[in-house]
Amino acid sequence: MPKLSAAALPPSLRDVPVAELFAEVFAQSLHHRGFAPGGRAAAQGALAQLDAVAYGRDRSHLGGHASRLSPYLHHGALTLSEVRDAALAQAPQSAPSRVWKYVNELSWHDYFNRVYAEIGELVWRDLQPYQTGHPADTYARTLPADIVAAETGAACIDAWSRELRESGYLHNHVRMWLASYVVHHRRVWWQAGAGWFITHLLDGDPANNNLNWQWVASTWRAYPYLWNRGNLVRYAGERYCAGCPLAQTTAQGGCPFEATYAELSRRLFAGKAAAPGETGALDPARLQAVPWESPPTPEPLPNVVVWVHGERLSPTHEALVSYPDQPAVFVWDDELLREWEVSAKRLSFIHECVQELPVHVLRGDVAAEVGRFARAHGAVTVATTPSPSPRFAATVTALQAAGLEVQLWPQPVFGASLTPLDLRVHADYWRQISASAFGKAPAPPKPRRPRTKKAAPPKSPGGA
Ligand SMILES: Cc1cc2nc3c(=O)[nH]c(=O)nc-3n(C[C@H](O)[C@H](O)[C@H](O)COP(=O)(O)OP(=O)(O)OC[C@H]3O[C@@H](n4cnc5c(N)ncnc54)[C@H](O)[C@@H]3O)c2cc1C
Repeated sequence: MPKLSAAALPPSLRDVPVAELFAEVFAQSLHHRGFAPGGRAAAQGALAQLDAVAYGRDRSHLGGHASRLSPYLHHGALTLSEVRDAALAQAPQSAPSRVWKYVNELSWHDYFNRVYAEIGELVWRDLQPYQTGHPADTYARTLPADIVAAETGAACIDAWSRELRESGYLHNHVRMWLASYVVHHRRVWWQAGAGWFITHLLDGDPANNNLNWQWVASTWRAYPYLWNRGNLVRYAGERYCAGCPLAQTTAQGGCPFEATYAELSRRLFAGKAAAPGETGALDPARLQAVPWESPPTPEPLPNVVVWVHGERLSPTHEALVSYPDQPAVFVWDDELLREWEVSAKRLSFIHECVQELPVHVLRGDVAAEVGRFARAHGAVTVATTPSPSPRFAATVTALQAAGLEVQLWPQPVFGASLTPLDLRVHADYWRQISASAFGKAPAPPKPRRPRTKKAAPPKSPGGA
């Protein structure tokens, strides 16, 4: 590959103010900062606030001890393993189960990422048909404007829509309630709601976002997720209902959530199974026996540049640490930012993470820019960290096609398991990795307990 001169590289954009870099996005938005600042230092500050024991008691309540660490986890300012270790350190040694719930919730993140690594772009398609009796084509393709503008008239829905737009964070329970409203009450395609969330959430990502939306929608679960006013009041108190216009009047039909689950089901669904002839995109057998082995740590090589991508934005980045003297690059992926319509507050978060790193910052086509950076430094190898995203895989393929070797530096594993791993449902995955997540050697999963007549309902990703 012909060597370029380092002078042929555009100057680094690292210290250009983010509002200048993305002037059009900032001009169109009033909310330039989200609920949390970006960066490793901020992440460590947030981690220091974690109370994993209290979390186990009140996680489903809006006033509970949710950790708000998800943007740091998604963008790799923290790893799942270090957050898990911080949680375990809070439990008495004799009673690690005090933080069981928190570690179990972290495992959903690991689980969804593993599923994403297997199914790739299918994550955007209905994995199975809606179990609501309604055909997929009866769901509207675009999000109604009143939801986006927080003008539905339901105080809870409007408050959550505003919170999403202004802060980029929603409590897990709120995400479930809002998603259920969008898909089931308004009969909107879950993909429209998922796109809206990805635009605004500081932690938005196709793995955790889409698979949770599919769980709520019933395109990846035996039945749709519903809630009613009783459930809302139990976990949120009267904060929304007290001043809600719909609670005061029956003119618009009153509160749409004031009903039993049986009434809601009758009102919203045409049945308890898929409509005839509907099919899904995923053959579950694909997730039944996924090979797993502990990722090897590579040996350092000469002639390397480091590529830092958006899922591992930390000075503790494994390749940055292994090659402290080699040039490193971060590339703003313009096409993806446009496609996801990434909000100004999330751009600010990422920019703050990047500013802590010793990287040359470029923008444009990621494979082309990383390749150009490598050539400018006479490198034959690009060292980076893995990602489950198909876009990452495509970038790696393009770099290899351009004659570069790509070396992957893995993060510490959250949970090791024997191989192969059954990823069809979280409960089976968890039975296989939980020993390791709590610091023991991976063990064969215990046999499932036979289901009794009054078996508890399957766990939700948020435990709610
Ligand atoms: C419709 C919907 C969309 C969602 N979109 C996203 C998303 O884009 N990105 C994202 O990271 N999470 C998503 N979640 C999962 C979850 O709501 C968030 O991870 C969590 O609310 C983040 O807040 P926290 O850090 O305070 O969580 P905590 O309650 O403190 O949980 C700790 C950590 O556990 C993990 N976790 C907890 N619940 C879940 C879950 N249901 N699924 C996966 N991981 C979980 C997260 O990494 C989280 O940071 C979504 C959930 C729903 C119902």
